[in-house]
Amino acid sequence: MLSYTTERSARLKHFYAIAGTVLLVAFSLFVYSRWQAKRSAEGHNAYLCVHNLRLIDVSKEAYAYEHGLKAGDLVSTQVLVGLHAWPVVCPSGGTYSIGPVGTPPTCTVSGHKIP
Ligand SMILES: [Zn+2]
Repeated sequence: MLSYTTERSARLKHFYAIAGTVLLVAFSLFVYSRWQAKRSAEGHNAYLCVHNLRLIDVSKEAYAYEHGLKAGDLVSTQVLVGLHAWPVVCPSGGTYSIGPVGTPPTCTVSGHKIP
């Protein structure tokens, strides 16, 4: 037969085991939800960045077509300012490179590129 103190001690251990498990699960869910939120925010930024890159690309190619430029010719950012395609800013802080005619513009952030 267990003494009162031993029985109480066993219940206390049982309580701590359950409380510890609940806290561990709650903490895991918290970390997971933070990770999911960060991941979806970065996905949204990549989506907006690709939109910007397409705007730059379409403006650059339209200008090149209208002015008879060939593949490899350079278009200045001043031209894109006139077309309201500049300045555009990467939402993740990347830097854009317009690139020559016939080459898609790029962003310095990994994963931000026209598919
Ligand atoms: Zn970007």
